[in-house]
Amino acid sequence: MPKIGILGMHGSREEHAEKMQQLGCETIFLRNEKDFEGIDGIILPGGESTSFKLLLEKTGLEKTLKKYIDEKKIATFGTCAGIILLSSSGTKNNMNVLDIAIDRNAYGRQIDSFSDEIEIEGFSKKFHAIFIRAPQIKSIGENIKVLARYDNKPILVQSENILAATFHPELTNDKRIHEIFYNMIIKK
Ligand code: GLN
Repeated sequence: MPKIGILGMHGSREEHAEKMQQLGCETIFLRNEKDFEGIDGIILPGGESTSFKLLLEKTGLEKTLKKYIDEKKIATFGTCAGIILLSSSGTKNNMNVLDIAIDRNAYGRQIDSFSDEIEIEGFSKKFHAIFIRAPQIKSIGENIKVLARYDNKPILVQSENILAATFHPELTNDKRIHEIFYNMIIKK
């Protein structure tokens, strides 16, 4: 059974855990370096990227995360604040592991949060995407594949070992995006 480590400080960690458990995975919340032992995948949930970044620096877990994502190339899934942490530029809250430039809170404040039906590559039916103080992707590197766009901007992207969304697939009952991540794990 694949074991998924979910960054466990705050944010939509329970929702991600539930989805991965429904897909037959074991989950653990990552709070210490020893929690990373034996994991097959990593999830960086939505939340507040400034809080994540401060806590990651304070606990030293940023280094551990980078080692697992960048060197061990473990499959990783980031949503909203998670994609901000993964990004390479546009914010101070990044870990520089995914070659995209990000613009935080690009749709406005909490009150400007919204949802819409979006098309995703390979899906026959639309996906209900929830955007909460979402970032926008300003540019992407050559090796990044775009799986979905909204208003012509990438909102779901994939690299060799990373899947990342500007919205919150963990907040719907639809497991199809988590299934993409599950397939990245079991293909390894
Ligand atoms: N706006 C938040 C940030 O910049 C992200 C919001 C979210 O994860 N829903 O970190």
